[in-house]
Amino acid sequence: MYATLGRIFDQTVGQYPDREALVDIRRGKRWTYSQWSDEVHRLANALTSAGVSRGDRVSSFLFNNSELPTTLFACAKIGAIFNPINFRLKPEELVYILNDATPEVVLFEEALKDTIKRVAAQFPSIQFWFIDSDVPEYAVSYQEQVSAAPPTDPFVQVDEMDTYAIMYTSGTTGRPKGVIHRHRDMAEQSMTCIAMLKYTKNDVGLVIAPMFHCAELHCCVIPRVQAGASSVIMHQFDPQAAVETVEKEKVTVMFAVPTMWSVMADLDGADAKVKTLQRGLYGAAPMAPILVKWVKEVLGIELIQAYGQTEMGPAITFLAEDEQLTKAGSAGKPAFNHEIRIVRPNEKGPSEPDDRVGAFEVGEIIVRGPSMMAGYFHRPQATSRVLYKGWYHTSDLGYVDEDGYLFVADRVDDMIISGGENIYPREVEDVLHEHELIQDVAVLGIPDEKWGEAVMAFIVVKDALLTEQQLEEFCVNHDKLARFKRPRNYRFVDELPRNASGKIQKFLLRELYAKNKA
Ligand code: ATP
Repeated sequence: MYATLGRIFDQTVGQYPDREALVDIRRGKRWTYSQWSDEVHRLANALTSAGVSRGDRVSSFLFNNSELPTTLFACAKIGAIFNPINFRLKPEELVYILNDATPEVVLFEEALKDTIKRVAAQFPSIQFWFIDSDVPEYAVSYQEQVSAAPPTDPFVQVDEMDTYAIMYTSGTTGRPKGVIHRHRDMAEQSMTCIAMLKYTKNDVGLVIAPMFHCAELHCCVIPRVQAGASSVIMHQFDPQAAVETVEKEKVTVMFAVPTMWSVMADLDGADAKVKTLQRGLYGAAPMAPILVKWVKEVLGIELIQAYGQTEMGPAITFLAEDEQLTKAGSAGKPAFNHEIRIVRPNEKGPSEPDDRVGAFEVGEIIVRGPSMMAGYFHRPQATSRVLYKGWYHTSDLGYVDEDGYLFVADRVDDMIISGGENIYPREVEDVLHEHELIQDVAVLGIPDEKWGEAVMAFIVVKDALLTEQQLEEFCVNHDKLARFKRPRNYRFVDELPRNASGKIQKFLLRELYAKNKA
């Protein structure tokens, strides 16, 4: 088998040269597969001329732009390792990643110029390539490099077991770690996503979630390339512009994190604008069942859920469109060729894969399958903590029901132990989400002298006055919330801190609580 991402790209270019491949909304530019292939080859040759060879890293520090997937495939064609970096990082965080990944070239853009300016001098051996006009003095022009290079195939021998990318975790649970993904593994992930999301060459996908994250790249952009479909790229997420682009570009499918789906569904007249949209993928963070139902009804589209982690490429399980209501709250069943187990958590080290718990019993979710990472970049110890006896240990807690559907409870570190009882914040959040005056909610455990930990809820309200007492009454009267799970403290906030993939940054809320208490 010869499953490299370069080959996947070439195959589609060969089969559908004249079909539209990419649309970059910011620049109003469009490419057919054959035109895009020329650009990919030019960039691959330009990188080679700049000294990049097989195994070297090339980083992108970009918002969503056509150059990001172009760099992905150019690297794939010459065996270089693609390293997309989170555009939200502050200079010190970027320095950490650049020291860790040691790239030869970093691509960046106008909107991120200030951050690069503050770090460039520390990396004299890195070439900074600027994708816009008015190139700063410490950088070179991407456009000039690319137009000076030939559009011919570089014909570099790349093996399917070569590393294709290093993607950094967002660091919600510590320092970011570089996840190593190989070509063959991501080719597998692509096939799985084609099957689950039913991509065909007639699809038009909208890119609104950040492409530095593997959910958008691996579940959407790459499988659409493999299917011969097109991707319409929006620079940044703007809900109004997104629904208008769906209408204008006749978008049929898109991925959005839960918060994006709910703000789009909240717009007046959104349903009339998204008539062509057939399928929507959600995931990367929990979405309360009530929100899933509401988005599905308001927008009138089929929703599919993926649960995963960067380390798994990311998809581990999928909940299909016809299971959204019958198995509400579940993350679905394992992706093709993947296997999940729920095992007893082990506080002293990795959980034992054979120490399984029964149906409905909560334990650590472990998984194995073809899209599992090869390890963390030069971090053997961290790798051996999570890749143990052939299983990847997610540090997520969950259970499986009698039909084999996975329910993700929470992260091991977020579980609250109050008076000896285990409480999963997500369960409490799902209940509070049902309150019509609540816009957003985060639940966490705070230190408590009597109970060890107490449940605290951070609440964002819709335009109305909502009191603690009303919330307490709501919880008392809710049949899904036992007494010990009810929040003992509420804090009303204007918004919840979320990272680029829509996850609530609970460590920031803990800091906020500690600061206000001091
Ligand atoms: P780090 O590994 O540094 O902590 P991270 O949390 O951002 O970074 P990701 O791989 O981006 O890592 O996110 C994976 C986590 O996101 C999962 O472990 C899970 O907790 C959560 N998640 C992803 N998809 C879903 C989903 N469909 N439902 C609930 N939670 C989800």
